[in-house]
Amino acid sequence: MESIEPQVYIVGAGPGAPGLLTLRAVELLARADVVLYDQLVPQRLLDHAKPTAELICVRDLPGTHPDKYPHIHTLLIERARAGQVVVRLKGGDPFIFGRGGEETEMLRAAGIRYEIVPGVTAALAAAAYLDLPLTHRHYASGVAFITGHELPTKSGNRIDYSAIAKFPGTLVIYMGISRLPMIVAELLKHGMNPTTPAAVVERASTGDMRTISATLADIDNARRLAGLEAPGLVIVGEAVEQRAAMSWFEAKPLFGKRVLVTRPRHQAGPMLARLEELGAVTHLLPTMDIRKPADLSALDRAIDNLAHFDWLGFTSVNGVHAFVERLLARGRDLRALGHLKLAAIGPSTAAVLREYHLTADVVPKENYSSEGLVASLSPLVAGKKILLARANRGRDLLPAELAKIAEVVQVTVYDQIDGVDAKDQVFDALRRGEIEFVTLTSSNIARGFLAACDHIIHGRIRRGELKLVAISRETGSVVRELGFPVVAEATTATSEGLISELIRLASSDRGGR
Ligand code: SAH
Repeated sequence: MESIEPQVYIVGAGPGAPGLLTLRAVELLARADVVLYDQLVPQRLLDHAKPTAELICVRDLPGTHPDKYPHIHTLLIERARAGQVVVRLKGGDPFIFGRGGEETEMLRAAGIRYEIVPGVTAALAAAAYLDLPLTHRHYASGVAFITGHELPTKSGNRIDYSAIAKFPGTLVIYMGISRLPMIVAELLKHGMNPTTPAAVVERASTGDMRTISATLADIDNARRLAGLEAPGLVIVGEAVEQRAAMSWFEAKPLFGKRVLVTRPRHQAGPMLARLEELGAVTHLLPTMDIRKPADLSALDRAIDNLAHFDWLGFTSVNGVHAFVERLLARGRDLRALGHLKLAAIGPSTAAVLREYHLTADVVPKENYSSEGLVASLSPLVAGKKILLARANRGRDLLPAELAKIAEVVQVTVYDQIDGVDAKDQVFDALRRGEIEFVTLTSSNIARGFLAACDHIIHGRIRRGELKLVAISRETGSVVRELGFPVVAEATTATSEGLISELIRLASSDRGGR
């Protein structure tokens, strides 16, 4: 039967805050083989894509504006015809100044099935995050979304400012910042009151949000003084006056604080999300990451020969995931483990086995280490065949000790990649002073981070411009021994404990001003 599924999904990515993505968008990102995304779409949203998905930024396509659109169209058609699931991820809503109409027209002409997923458009995000009602029973009986940037090829102004000036409600002008003086002049010329309240907002819904308000006549001046630049929105109308002096979002304890999270990518999600929820702008410097091993042949051989083994041992959470994933990828399922006894190095590893409905037969009682596992297993495995599923680098103690009494085969199920990538773009942001706090979540991460920083960043740390916050007293000591100051150490060694320290620092900052 011919497929009835859409081939291309045109998906609204929302205004920037990762939580403002729709459930449908998350589902489709997880399904996509290719994600073609706009430059304004925050990188964080792409974490919803599968690890194997191809992520293509429109900016990186050949051809320059405005000729690049045919390239996007060609790529969409090519990939859809090749049978890939294509997600076209666009900022805000695809049908609000997003050229979504041009893309669907092209897809229809090419006979390609598509679905459109709406997104939270910038105007609605700005309204919510500025605490500014766009309509109001007394002040605004409607709202209009207007572009401040007509196609360059259009002759004259297609926007009829005489009609716009009389609109009985709130105007939200997209792409209007660079032409603000012209827009204001047109509105005034056509009779709008110069004292009409107006606001400009940059990066609405993110911790980077900046905003100013003034009368219509003064708005561009105020914007320039405040240094607000495109991209941003201009909002005009009596309803702007109803705005809260400080929005609920601007009042968040970490609003506008720029915080670097240094942890492995797959563990950073919850901490990033929590920081963003508190209003911070987050950056991630992934440390010690895991990857699929380049050579899977030994693992595959072991999976095909599971019948040969009596025991299967796991020394990490990642090992369990990687092993089960590979098992399934080879067309087998959990029944292949039915005859095996299972060993886990500690409670977290055992808990992940339980997620797969597997119960570990052996978990060390208190010493969650290679030594502990050897001690627990030794009485049980004499003469047995043990398969150990491990990282490329693990301690030799476990296989060496077990080999004295049993037959041991160890296979690499994932590779551990150490330290930080000194070429990561985050270091440029640190050099430019775009980050204020660095969270250090372990002693090793602290060492790796400081070793990867150059003298410019070291200077910033010493001068107190870049502040290091440690997850524990131990991690703090490591930093001090290396000759750098720590501004705070968490009393509870968890990311929540560390975040509490950030909140304390931020509030004393506010108080001190
Ligand atoms: N389809 C998008 C708009 C694309 S046009 C949407 O529905 O939001 C790009 C313009 O959108 C920018 O020039 C700016 O005016 C506005 N914009 C997008 N995201 C924004 C944000 N987070 N804050 C303020 N304005 C934003």
